[in-house]
Amino acid sequence: MKYYSTNKQAPMASLEEAVVKGLAADKGLFMPETIKALPPSFYDEIEHLSFQEIAYRVADAFFGEDVPAETLKQIVYDTLSFDVPLVHVNDNIYSLELFHGPTLAFKDVGGRFMARLLGYFIRKEGKKDVNVLVATSGDTGSAVANGFLGVEGIHVYVLYPKGKVSEIQEKQFTTLGQNITALEVEGTFDDCQALVKAAFMDKELNEHLLLTSANSINVARFLPQAFYYFYAYAQLKKIKKADEVVICVPSGNFGNITAGLFAKRMGLPIKRFIAANNRNDIFYQYLQTGEYTPRPSVSTIANAMDVGDPSNFARVLDLYQNSHKAIKAEISSTTYTDEQISDTVNEVYKNTGYLLDPHGACGYRALQESLHKDEHGVFLETAHPAKFLETVESIIDEKVAIPQKLQEFMKGEKQSIEISKSFDDFKNYLLNCK
Ligand SMILES: *Cc1c(COP(=O)(O)O)cnc(C)c1O
Repeated sequence: MKYYSTNKQAPMASLEEAVVKGLAADKGLFMPETIKALPPSFYDEIEHLSFQEIAYRVADAFFGEDVPAETLKQIVYDTLSFDVPLVHVNDNIYSLELFHGPTLAFKDVGGRFMARLLGYFIRKEGKKDVNVLVATSGDTGSAVANGFLGVEGIHVYVLYPKGKVSEIQEKQFTTLGQNITALEVEGTFDDCQALVKAAFMDKELNEHLLLTSANSINVARFLPQAFYYFYAYAQLKKIKKADEVVICVPSGNFGNITAGLFAKRMGLPIKRFIAANNRNDIFYQYLQTGEYTPRPSVSTIANAMDVGDPSNFARVLDLYQNSHKAIKAEISSTTYTDEQISDTVNEVYKNTGYLLDPHGACGYRALQESLHKDEHGVFLETAHPAKFLETVESIIDEKVAIPQKLQEFMKGEKQSIEISKSFDDFKNYLLNCK
């Protein structure tokens, strides 16, 4: 399969090039040349397949031409060593719990898959010293760092905004050591993302270092996220609730929802999508006005969605050939204040006993406000509530049990390097690491 750039100014790339480079030379995002539909027989029997079986069929459609079947199967099965259960919350609303992986957020799926696929390419080429740069608003850093921990030939640099991620999130990528370095940036998530993008564009840096990105701009991180949309559908079908499915995705950089849009293109019967946002409502404004106006992000209690210029918006535009009308026909959007998010966490907990995290709360609320009576709604519960411990405990005024996996991370000692948000500082740092 060939990959083209959303900016259409760079040559087509192979999967390997797209994964190793991350971003195309013209700063566009890579898109697969074709999105293969899966046959009706697959959908007919989907409820009888396991998550891994489903995921392998989807992975084969994307990567089967470029990765040997046994290798791909191994990568998929190793990646998905945990379940993604669909849990009933209220009325016609279901939670797709994506937090049962090692770092308790959905990014484990893409992070683990990418680490394994990149590892395969590096071994195949006998490459060494690949540097993975990743900007994080909290959960990406931990998923990517844990996915790559100890992988030979790869060094990971995690850039995160100082003071803007929760202590638990921070511990998950600052305590690992080995081939993982945490860089604490004096700035916002957007500043971190800008530094990573600038590094890829810098000629001198790229002459000296082999750089790649593990943000959702990377196809190896972003496409595997399609797996669980199929599995959500399979679970609904099993309980005979698979008509008029609405999927709501708490969105920041829009990688997760874009993978869902791909799933729909592959024939998955999803009626419509909702992108749930916090006060960073750039996409919401785009739907209203047809104008895309990036703005600096504002801090909210759903901090993983504090994004002012969602990078995968370019993919959404490309997928719908820049048609505002076509986008609006399949995706709607909502935007919530911190107060609305807190109220939702609290109300749902008091009324149903289900504890949402602040991101999932945006997703739940959007469904609650918009589902018609014949529709079945699934929101992606993108992280475990204990990852946002202080916030969630103060909302419900109760202690939240910390899962064992998180407690293990809390025991480690934070190690990080502080850098400014100036690109020159970052560049010098990388050049001196060599
Ligand atoms: C990363 C993240 C999001 C946003 O996902 P995107 O793919 O960037 O839209 C939402 N919720 C949580 C908990 C996250 O970690």
